[in-house]
This record gives sequence, C-alpha cells and structure tokens, in this order.
Amino acid sequence: MKKEIRIQPIKNGTVIDHLNVGSVYRILQVLDLSEFALTAAMNVESRKLGKKDILFIEGKELNDKELNKIALIGKGASVNIIKDAEIKKKFQLGYPEKVEAIIKCINPKCITNSETLSTKFTIKTEPLEATCYYCETRMNEKEIVESIKK
Ligand SMILES: [Zn+2]
Repeated sequence: MKKEIRIQPIKNGTVIDHLNVGSVYRILQVLDLSEFALTAAMNVESRKLGKKDILFIEGKELNDKELNKIALIGKGASVNIIKDAEIKKKFQLGYPEKVEAIIKCINPKCITNSETLSTKFTIKTEPLEATCYYCETRMNEKEIVESIKK
C-alpha cells in the first residue's frame, strides 16, 4: 500500500515546506501560534530532503520577525503564502547572516542584558552558531532556540 498524506489545503495562510525533520517542533516552541488552526506533517517523504516536515498555518501571514526566526531554525525552508486557496507568494528562506533583536545573549554580563540595546548576532551554519556582536559569546542551536522562545 502506498503511503500518501492528504492534507486539506488551507484557504488563507502560510505553508512552510521543506523543513528539516524536527523543525516543526522547534517552530512551535519559538512562535506563538496558539490562536491559529495548524496542521503539521512530520517526518514525511521528500524527494529533496529524504524526509521533511511541513507546517500549515491557517489564517496567518507570518511577519518578518517570525520569518527570521523560522529562517534560523528551519534551514532552507520554503514559504508559501496562500490567499483564496491559491499560492500568492512563494519564496525560500536563506540563513540570515546577521540578526538583530531576535536572539537574546546568554552571557549575563553582556551589555545587551543590562541596557536597552538591541542584540546583534552574526550567524554561522553547519552547525548553526550565533556570535554576539557585543561580547562575542557564541551560542549553539539549542541555546538559540531557547533564547528566541515566545
Ligand atoms: Zn552578548
């Protein structure tokens, strides 16, 4: 028997496709999507990735800050904006090289934790690592996810 997943297409909202396995779980940790109807497909077959996750968010178009968070943890994901059951916009999320005001520095002595100063990080990939512009503290993926939680 062929395993096939059929998902009710959403009418309006966002589909995040080609997510690495495990990304849906992390996205739900860092974005507050509690008001929206969500459908997730996890660990499904993908021609491109072998296995992938997909997240369908009904009734929500993600803003830039939310997309930046997903770009950080959902490496190379593609985003489809759906309006009236048609794809209105489709784009791939690249890794940002720099992020501002998203990650919180884990160094308690960092100036960004004592003053109202936006954090700035440079991002390296494979493995994901963020370096604080001010104190040069490096953070790994787990610490990044923890710090950008909703
Ligand atoms: Zn810092």
